[in-house]
Amino acid sequence: MRIEIPVTRVQRQKPRPEDAQLGFGQVFTDHMFLMDGAVDAGWSNPRIVPYGPLALEPATVALHYAQSVFEGLKAYRGQDDTVRLFRPDRNIARFNRSAARLCMPSIDPELFLAALKQLVATDRDWVPRAPGTSLYIRPVAFASDADLHVRPSRTYVFFIILSPVAAYYAEGFKPLRIRVEDRYVRSVRGGTGAAKTAGNYAGSLLAGEEAQKDGFAQVLWLDGINQEYIEEVGSMNIAFVIGDELVTPPLTGTLLEGVTRDSVLQLARDEGVQVAERPVAIAEVMAAARNGTLREAFGTGTAAVISPVGELAYKGERVRVQDGEVGPLSQRLYDRLSDIQRGRLPDRHGWMVAV
Ligand code: PMP
Repeated sequence: MRIEIPVTRVQRQKPRPEDAQLGFGQVFTDHMFLMDGAVDAGWSNPRIVPYGPLALEPATVALHYAQSVFEGLKAYRGQDDTVRLFRPDRNIARFNRSAARLCMPSIDPELFLAALKQLVATDRDWVPRAPGTSLYIRPVAFASDADLHVRPSRTYVFFIILSPVAAYYAEGFKPLRIRVEDRYVRSVRGGTGAAKTAGNYAGSLLAGEEAQKDGFAQVLWLDGINQEYIEEVGSMNIAFVIGDELVTPPLTGTLLEGVTRDSVLQLARDEGVQVAERPVAIAEVMAAARNGTLREAFGTGTAAVISPVGELAYKGERVRVQDGEVGPLSQRLYDRLSDIQRGRLPDRHGWMVAV
């Protein structure tokens, strides 16, 4: 089924920044997708309109009680000039799981995908060309009732905005210094950790700020019960090479099911690497670092694909990983995935969706 979404075009296009001037998430394209939702009537009035402010009543539910969910994915311009989305079906499914957790209505995946494709096609010229650059896509749904009751809103707004972004590693990989966070937690069993919802990010800010003040890039989150097991790093999933095995915490409901995580595990399995999704205790990782079997550590996420970890600080002890350099598997997985995303390697798993 072909879904045609009506488009109201801008009268005058905005000046587009040079690729070399791009940063992250502060420049937006000419258009956005909008749609209205109501619990009894479903989603209606899908449309592409000029990017611009939303008018909200001060009593808007999402502003008070954070009933809102979002996603983050990218479109890449290939060498052949084709613009492709990376595994949008995964982000759509995760969005709907997040929505269910926050008592919000789901969005028909076909309509969601049509909206992504048509919006990106409308602003196709905004997809940057320089090596490593991409178009970041941010779908959001929020509760729009003007009502101070703490209960699920009856009305919602869904939008998608687009932002051309710089190459994450324009100056090469920079392995991160990470503080293992043992005071704050991001998620607890039965909580919202597996949902991409606003409150998780608000709740994580203070730990990140305090870590940065002490010279660390991010925090490594531990579980919310005994702070014994590793969960995520900043807003990325985490993986370690211990001995000959690639290990990463399992998806038990407290961490986000990363699309990059899944893709990297698949690529590692493809090349015969032994992969284990199992609980990883911080004690195990520190011991492996001390005895030399911790060979690599890296975060995975849409923004950077792979972020090597160069140092871990835990309870006053500091250990280096890979001498602060990039490990061979980290580098290989980064290269493979980036090459698939930009059409330089065959897309064996059918991950890329042309717009
Ligand atoms: N964990 C958290 C908390 C995140 O916000 C993200 C970014 N979406 C990830 C992990 C990585 O997920 P993905 O690979 O889908 O970007």
